Amino acid sequence: MALIVQKYGGTSVGSVERIQTVAQRIHHTTQEGNTVVVVVSAMGKTTDTLVNLAQEITTNPSRREMDMLLSTGEQVTIALMTMALQERGQPAISLTGAQVGIVTEAEHSRARILSIKPDRIKRHLDKGQVVVVAGFQGISSQEELEITTLGRGGSDTSAVALAASLKANFCEIYTDVPGILTTDPRLVPEARLMEEITCDEMLELASLGAKVLHPRAVEIARNYGVSLVVRSSWSDAPGTRVISPIPKPRSLEGLEITKAVDGVEFDVDQSKIALLRVPDRPGIAARLFGEIAHQKVDVDLIIQSIHEGNSNDIAFTVIKNVSRKAEAVAQAIAPVLRSHPSQSEEAEVLVEMGVAKISIAGAGMIGRPGIAAKMFQTLAEAKINIEMISTSEVKVSCVIAQEEGDRAIEALCKAFDVDLVPKPLVAEVVEASPPVRGVALDLKQAQIAIRHVKDKPGMAASIFGVLAQRNISVDTIIQSQRCRILSGMPTRDIAFTVGEGETDAACQALNTLAEGFDEVIVDKDIAKVSIVGAGMVGQPGIAAKFFEALAKENINIKMIATSEIKISCVVPQEEGVKALKAVHQAFELAGIETVEVPV
Ligand code: ASP
Ligand code: MG
Repeated sequence: MALIVQKYGGTSVGSVERIQTVAQRIHHTTQEGNTVVVVVSAMGKTTDTLVNLAQEITTNPSRREMDMLLSTGEQVTIALMTMALQERGQPAISLTGAQVGIVTEAEHSRARILSIKPDRIKRHLDKGQVVVVAGFQGISSQEELEITTLGRGGSDTSAVALAASLKANFCEIYTDVPGILTTDPRLVPEARLMEEITCDEMLELASLGAKVLHPRAVEIARNYGVSLVVRSSWSDAPGTRVISPIPKPRSLEGLEITKAVDGVEFDVDQSKIALLRVPDRPGIAARLFGEIAHQKVDVDLIIQSIHEGNSNDIAFTVIKNVSRKAEAVAQAIAPVLRSHPSQSEEAEVLVEMGVAKISIAGAGMIGRPGIAAKMFQTLAEAKINIEMISTSEVKVSCVIAQEEGDRAIEALCKAFDVDLVPKPLVAEVVEASPPVRGVALDLKQAQIAIRHVKDKPGMAASIFGVLAQRNISVDTIIQSQRCRILSGMPTRDIAFTVGEGETDAACQALNTLAEGFDEVIVDKDIAKVSIVGAGMVGQPGIAAKFFEALAKENINIKMIATSEIKISCVVPQEEGVKALKAVHQAFELAGIETVEVPV
């Protein structure tokens, strides 16, 4: 029979009745012959209440005392849950993070798990007991016994880490929603429950999925091949399976701080096509990529940087053998795309053959801002110029000149201590996933544009280096295609998005860079809409359909950024929800039944 780790979230254990209902489910699972480890959160809104209590005493509590305080929430639940199990005649024992040997970094309030000593748990399991473990907490080392917490929502991470170290057959995350939905049901009531999703897709949908499942839990599941399922505590419905690839064997030591990057990927024979000075109004991207899709040409990366005056530049890459076809479409459409009917200035098409895409891939890049900066730095040291940048949760890609490929591979493999990995065949991926699995809306981001950055190797490295030093996570980095010569020096704009709360810190960090660019412009009124699906690889027309859905609603696209399995558009904030609805509908993601969402 199976060894199962079950995790119950705050709402699922929010009252005595609910704890009893959960105990019944656990008991049922053991009676079917399974061995069960249970991980629980604090009851209901306990953690929030504790945070508020602290705030009443001080606006600036020490992180150590916060950990001391917040870790008590889970301790209440483990004791009550164990009593409820014992009351049903199920032998059980409650254990804290320290007692099960969850050793973490000494970072209060955001510790990552280093190792777990499962011996004690195993001893109890062998005696036929259910082990009820406090989620969200650990200890910093065996000597100091400092209590640490893993960050809000961290019980998911405790559960998956325990499943990995116990080599459990499954890890089940029980929550108050039926599983992972195609989008946020509070904004789009037609959201549909997904039967399954890959870990990479889940990570790319971070802003959608994070409320249901802590991204660090997904990283661990992916790295150690844990079978994960998210399901409702109120029903027997199967929920959503979160699928991980068969992992490379990894040590359980340094569990959450193992290599962030697990491989370098290289795509040769690409061409870059740029359209400069296309009008900044709704419908332009839809028109261009609609034509390209019509010709059955598959585009890889698409980038539209911030507008300049009333025009935009759009660049994309295709594989070389279709580049003539893509160029012909771009050339044919350029004269139609005038900024203004009276304006004689036409969009200009630039084609560069013989470029290549080099990427670093891995699940541990989220929340580790230094990774992209390290890649840019490594390329800069090798004197390789970066022509296009695309960043996402699981991949950072740079377009470079093809002849620099070998040097780039060597430098990056060395810097990240990994190998070049062969690309999976497109067919394998497409078979497993639909082109669009889900749609996310992110309203809590701000766009930062740095104007006139000197176009020389090392600039991206120093910009993202200072941000990384201050632990600021950057998303969706875009470098403009248009080159402007200022006092004899070519310059380009670099734009990116950060969490709204980090805007000031980001600007301060950038201001420490004395030279290299002209000004920093912040736009907080943005929304980011993203579509994610592993099946979009090698499928023409997905981007076009996305842009068309926005065009039909007359929504102007401020920025476009793509990765292999994700396309994001930055739009005006007030259009965000409308955009989300339109896109969700365009990809026919609506379900037949509406999903009940608890309030
Ligand atoms: N109780 C903690 C929180 O609310 C951890 C968790 O529930 O996952 O953040
Ligand atoms: Mg949670």
